[in-house]
Amino acid sequence: MCVTGECERLESRDIVERNTTTYATSAEQRLREALEASGQRFTEQRSAVYRHLASTDTHPTADEVFIAVRATIPDISLATVYKALETLVGCGLATKLTYGDGSARYDGRTDPHHHARCLECGAVIDVAGEVDARALAAVEPRNGFRIEGFRLEVVGRCVDCAH
Ligand code: ZN
Ligand code: MN
Repeated sequence: MCVTGECERLESRDIVERNTTTYATSAEQRLREALEASGQRFTEQRSAVYRHLASTDTHPTADEVFIAVRATIPDISLATVYKALETLVGCGLATKLTYGDGSARYDGRTDPHHHARCLECGAVIDVAGEVDARALAAVEPRNGFRIEGFRLEVVGRCVDCAH
C-alpha cells in the first residue's frame, strides 16, 4: 500500500472525475498520480498491465496477464509484466493473492472482498457478502499474535467442474 495514503485520496477524486471525463482518461490519470506518489514512472507497459487488470475479474496469473498484454505490446517481456504487476500492488492499485504452492494471482479490485477457489481447475472468483468479524475471536492465536485483518477463501468445485 502507499505509505502516504495518497491512493485512497485519489480514489475518491476519481469517482468525481468519472462524471466529467471518460473512464479511460480518468483511470490513466489515477495510475499516473498513484505511480508518481510512490516515486515510480508512468510507462505504456505499466498502463497496459493496469488496463488489463482493471478490465477483468478472473484474477489472472502473471503469465495470463503477459499473454493478454502481448496482444497490444508484442515486444513486452514476462519479466516486465511481472515487475509492472508488483509495482501496481506496491502503490495500492492491485492486490496479490498468494498460494501455498508459491503461485500468485493478481486482482484489480482493491476494496475488501472474499474469494472462492476451485480445487479442480484453480479458477478464483469474487464472493459477495461479508463475514462477521467477531467470528475472528474463535480463531485468534494465543501466543500474543495481534490480528490486523483476515483473508477468507472458500474452496470447492466451480460450476464447470462440479460433475
Ligand atoms: Zn473449476
Ligand atoms: Mn477479487
